[in-house]
Amino acid sequence: MSLGTGQSADMERIPCRLCSRGTMRWAVIKPYNLNVGIAMMVAGFLCLITGLLSLLGLILLLIGGYLVWARKAVWLCDHCGAIVERV
Ligand SMILES: [Zn+2]
Repeated sequence: MSLGTGQSADMERIPCRLCSRGTMRWAVIKPYNLNVGIAMMVAGFLCLITGLLSLLGLILLLIGGYLVWARKAVWLCDHCGAIVERV
């Protein structure tokens, strides 16, 4: 068995603290509200095409894009659905 450089973090098995029956599994969730991100991107785009608030529009686009595409790795219990943030 070599330790290697693989990213197979899901090989680990961590028992759930809440229900003590399930197993915490590695999962990726979207931590932010998708609708908020899209609304900010649309608002930013509108600011950009009007040319009046181009700097604000650019900032809104960047923040909105981050909210939409951001993902977070967590531990998810396959029994009770508890989510624990990975540190
Ligand atoms: Zn659980």
